[in-house]
Amino acid sequence: MSENNPTQSPVALASRVAIIGAGLGGLTLALALRKQGIETQVYEKARELRAVGAGLTLFPNGLNSLRAIDAGIVESLKSAGSQTRMLNLKKSTGEIIMQSPITLLAKYGQPMLNIRWSRLQEILAAGLPKEAIHLNSRCIGYQENDQGVEVDFEDGKKVQADLLIGADGINSVVRQMLIKDGSPRYSGRLSWRAVVKYNHELLGSDESIFMLGNDGKAFTLIDVGDGYIFWSAGALSADANCLQNAVEVKSRVLEVFAGWGEPVQAIVAATDANEIVERPIYDRPPLESWSQGRVTLLGDAAHPVVPVLGQGANMAFEDAWELQECLSHADSIETALASYEKSRIHRTQVIQARSAFQGARSYDADSETFLRGVAEQAQMSQSEFEDWLYSYKSTSL
Ligand SMILES: Cc1cc2nc3c(=O)[nH]c(=O)nc-3n(C[C@H](O)[C@H](O)[C@H](O)COP(=O)(O)OP(=O)(O)OC[C@H]3O[C@@H](n4cnc5c(N)ncnc54)[C@H](O)[C@@H]3O)c2cc1C
Repeated sequence: MSENNPTQSPVALASRVAIIGAGLGGLTLALALRKQGIETQVYEKARELRAVGAGLTLFPNGLNSLRAIDAGIVESLKSAGSQTRMLNLKKSTGEIIMQSPITLLAKYGQPMLNIRWSRLQEILAAGLPKEAIHLNSRCIGYQENDQGVEVDFEDGKKVQADLLIGADGINSVVRQMLIKDGSPRYSGRLSWRAVVKYNHELLGSDESIFMLGNDGKAFTLIDVGDGYIFWSAGALSADANCLQNAVEVKSRVLEVFAGWGEPVQAIVAATDANEIVERPIYDRPPLESWSQGRVTLLGDAAHPVVPVLGQGANMAFEDAWELQECLSHADSIETALASYEKSRIHRTQVIQARSAFQGARSYDADSETFLRGVAEQAQMSQSEFEDWLYSYKSTSL
């Protein structure tokens, strides 16, 4: 990170920041920048901040980054969510393969915390003034000019900013203008997920269950607090097409997981069909660079992964903290973005490579970027990797 320049305050460096996307990454970055007095506006294409039926697991690296931004947020998340203390790995029949106590709290100062996506999004959004989030604002492009960046929206609106951040997810429009790397790639897996109020004797409140079939199928059950269980399932599928009808989707899940041990069938049967989200899983190979001029990327727009390690949102929190730090300490936007890339690209490449490796996902063998990441992750044992992953501390923590 560059030397702190006392004559240059972050406000002078970038007094108007535009973030595209009010997902977990965009909201977190807006919180971090506004805390530094940087005028930050978030533009979201959706008409309302609406939760996708899902839960998320947050790990010490993500939680410590959030804590550095706002310790109160982490406390709110802990009150709203549930902590995993025992991880149960089971066969599809329900037979236990392994039980591992989770010791992250003792080792890294933060737990393995599970929470409903809707609660997480609400808690992050509550830290921002309402007028800082512009809904129904779909970004369609931007141009750099002498004054900074002019951002274009579908309804004809134009916004002038000193810095533009694409936090607009895996199908990022900002990334397309910056990197021009086309559509994300289908991973060969379909996923289903839902959050449901549910009680079952096999589901302990501080336990997470991972059930694995021998044909690429997996089913996860996680307590996400307030009596809700998040279940998510995945199976190999050559076809990325989703069904249009909710009842058919529910029947498909029951069929794919027919014969699996309880509580798999029981919880799917108890879930309202309209609450089940069916999605193909996509990712992209790692990038060497993701900034140009006064434009950069954050979160899934920069480094989408197959959800194997549960690191997508955690990495977005790390990005938000680091970008805020880089903007606070650099003497120009260009040096801030160079420091941001320096602090983030290698780490996220390794996590992308490890996710791909554990998700049995192969990237092009001739991709130098990927091979470097693989080489590094391949040298680390599981425990070394976890230590490297969870003990992440921003340079200033
Ligand atoms: C099944 C599944 C399970 C997962 N589990 C975990 C987990 O346990 N832990 C974890 O850390 N991560 C997990 N992830 C990954 C995590 O959900 C993502 O990494 C994270 O949501 C990325 O946040 P983001 O803000 O970068 O992108 P998003 O959450 O995708 O947000 C992007 C936002 O940008 C908006 N947008 C898009 N285009 C435009 C546009 N043109 N103009 C304006 N707005 C736009 C979108 O509407 C959206 O609100 C999981 C993912 C999946 C699919």
